[in-house]
Amino acid sequence: MKEQRHLHRAWAEISLEALKNNIDIIKKLNSPSTEIMAVVKADAYGHGCEKVVTCLEKECGIKYFAVSNIDEAAEVRSLCPDAEILILGYTPPEYAEDLLRYNIIQGIVSSDYANELCSGISERLRCHIKIDTGMGRIGLRHETPESCAEEIAGICCLEKLSVEGIYTHFAAADSSDPDNIEYTDRQETFITDTYDCLIKKGISLPHVHFMNSAATCYRNSPRSTLSRAGIIMYGLHPDISLEIPSGLKPVMSLRAVISHVKTVEAGTCISYGRTFKASDKMRIATVTIGYADGYSRLLSSKGEILVHGRRCRIVGRVCMDQLMIDVTDIPEARPGDIVTLIGSDGTETITADDLASVYGTIGYEVVCGISKRVPRIYT
Ligand SMILES: *Cc1c(COP(=O)(O)O)cnc(C)c1O
Repeated sequence: MKEQRHLHRAWAEISLEALKNNIDIIKKLNSPSTEIMAVVKADAYGHGCEKVVTCLEKECGIKYFAVSNIDEAAEVRSLCPDAEILILGYTPPEYAEDLLRYNIIQGIVSSDYANELCSGISERLRCHIKIDTGMGRIGLRHETPESCAEEIAGICCLEKLSVEGIYTHFAAADSSDPDNIEYTDRQETFITDTYDCLIKKGISLPHVHFMNSAATCYRNSPRSTLSRAGIIMYGLHPDISLEIPSGLKPVMSLRAVISHVKTVEAGTCISYGRTFKASDKMRIATVTIGYADGYSRLLSSKGEILVHGRRCRIVGRVCMDQLMIDVTDIPEARPGDIVTLIGSDGTETITADDLASVYGTIGYEVVCGISKRVPRIYT
């Protein structure tokens, strides 16, 4: 392993043990009537679709996967011949035959789209119908569950579509604000009422689902046949201000190496723009990672990284491939040392959520943003 690490200037370690641990916890959170639909869009939130999906299917018994587009769906299909795969987002109608070929379930966002998608296709296409109950993104929009069920019933009549479920997405399930809780309550009531209206019309669909990670943590409902778990599977927070169930572990760590160490005199400028000037004699280390690796330039002079189990601050601007840190208090730091940008070293930990809050984003964007050139190493 050590040998292999030195081949890499910057790499992400993906702990499949942590992933399995998180799935066990999510299974315990869900009621027996709810199965996990693992959300593996965006290359499994930057963790690497191939290894993550294979682990989830083979070792965790996951049968349902959700992705954002047909390319992602085709990749999951190539790994799991038997899995159920739902495309949450839009697929251009000209790809309908590919959906059939890969046996993919398509999210349906409107009656027009349903018609376009199934006009002229050779077989029945499987789908779940998306209802916009308050996210304002995609889906059927209705004043009442009754009229919504009416439109769904119309789509169910299309000969070339096989409607297997309805679903919706919460806009603010990751909030403890009473107003947001009430809003989410209304979203949930709308989708379950719509489902019940369909039953009254004699349409009994196998699936109705609305739980994302936040709902799985804070408002778990046995009525959701699937819990579309994304971020908690990767051990991160839907929202940093709310605790996640104990035991969930971050799956990704990000590491790089020190390439150069030097002592500089007071007044020395570090990095582009001369935004940092040493106030005293200091030791500066250069680290082999930068914004082209997805380590944001917004962390310039703000972020901290772990060196020999201690926190060091970034000095000056983060460059494309490199950044500089203050190692004045770490005399043992030397070229070749492995440093931690996300993850644990000794007793110190920096999570993707911590980094996100330094520059005003969310952990999701941090892990999805770790770029292609950073190899993923599975442990
Ligand atoms: C991305 C996504 C999810 C997963 O969200 P998390 O917050 O990561 O759990 C679930 N449903 C839909 C429709 C999504 O787009």
